[in-house]
Amino acid sequence: MATLEIVCPVCAELLELTDEDRAELEVGDVIVCDSCNAEMEVTRNGAGEDFELELLGVLTTCPNCGEEFDVTDEMLADAPTIEGRDGVAATLISCPHCRAQIELEFEEVE
Ligand SMILES: [Zn+2]
Ligand SMILES: [Zn+2]
Repeated sequence: MATLEIVCPVCAELLELTDEDRAELEVGDVIVCDSCNAEMEVTRNGAGEDFELELLGVLTTCPNCGEEFDVTDEMLADAPTIEGRDGVAATLISCPHCRAQIELEFEEVE
């Protein structure tokens, strides 16, 4: 069975989709990365390599109130970046539920 390999745009984890998986996917469906919880919408699902995803956001669980929410590109663009003790850049976002400030660390994938 053919397997399509997709690289997660957030964490670079390799996601494998079998023909069976793809047969169940339709344009508009959302795939979630096992490793980083990034949500990706299927924008093309044709034959063979004809497959495209668009990153929607990263599903994050607030450590303060336990609610899940999506961190989107727009939120990241507006969020201040701070530098942690070990020199790792972190982005400060606030939980839409309880307004707690959460530090997110992203690996740059550029
Ligand atoms: Zn990922
Ligand atoms: Zn919260």
